[in-house]
Amino acid sequence: MQIIPLPAFSDNYIWLIREGRHAVVVDPGDAAPVLEYLQNNALRLAAVLITHHHADHVGGLPALLAEYPVPVYGPRREAIAGVDRPLDDRDHVSIEELGLAFEVIAVPGHTLGHIAYYTPGHLFCGDTLFCGGCGRIFEGTPAQLHASLERLAALPAETQVYCAHEYTLPNLRFARLAEPANAAREAFLAECERLRDAGRPTLPSSVGRERQINPFLRCSEPAIRTTASEQAGHPLNNAPEVFAALREWKNRA
Ligand SMILES: [Zn+2]
Repeated sequence: MQIIPLPAFSDNYIWLIREGRHAVVVDPGDAAPVLEYLQNNALRLAAVLITHHHADHVGGLPALLAEYPVPVYGPRREAIAGVDRPLDDRDHVSIEELGLAFEVIAVPGHTLGHIAYYTPGHLFCGDTLFCGGCGRIFEGTPAQLHASLERLAALPAETQVYCAHEYTLPNLRFARLAEPANAAREAFLAECERLRDAGRPTLPSSVGRERQINPFLRCSEPAIRTTASEQAGHPLNNAPEVFAALREWKNRA
């Protein structure tokens, strides 16, 4: 199995999973790069996976379905034209053409119905967990997004994390403000600057790496509680409060 990032718009990645002559795409915001890749590689689309309803994740569905009328999996709690296999927490998806099976993890916060797709070794998490950061809270509450991220952070450390945006450099620069002394983060930031200078993606990340470098997964760290409390202007008593203050600070930063 190969997993390929197809760049779209200014900073999206449409992840394409290929095995043999078949492929699956996650969050095709634009059909053009998907159709081009399928044609150039003589692949047939087997299914589409959708994480949430935002246009930059679903906009390519009509054009893709006109060419390939395949099953489209997506969140049961969001109205998305084209989704015909609605999914909820702990549902299972099986894509026989690729020998792939996913477990669905409900991750509300960025949107209320947002789901992630997990198969051992790989996590497709849309706009919930980013490398070094997390999604904005458009529909849910900070407590919801914090709980969603805690679930993802509890997956095995080696799990590769396929986020839907290339936000790593600004995220890691914010992480530096939130947790100034973090040697692993500094080393990784230098590596990511080299990758971006070479025009390469910084993704996928991994759950183990995110636990080390991502301040939004490190809200119990005393150093982060201190900086977040300073920004909030009052003492923060627990990880969910630290998370809410960090998210609010990042919106202003
Ligand atoms: Zn989104």
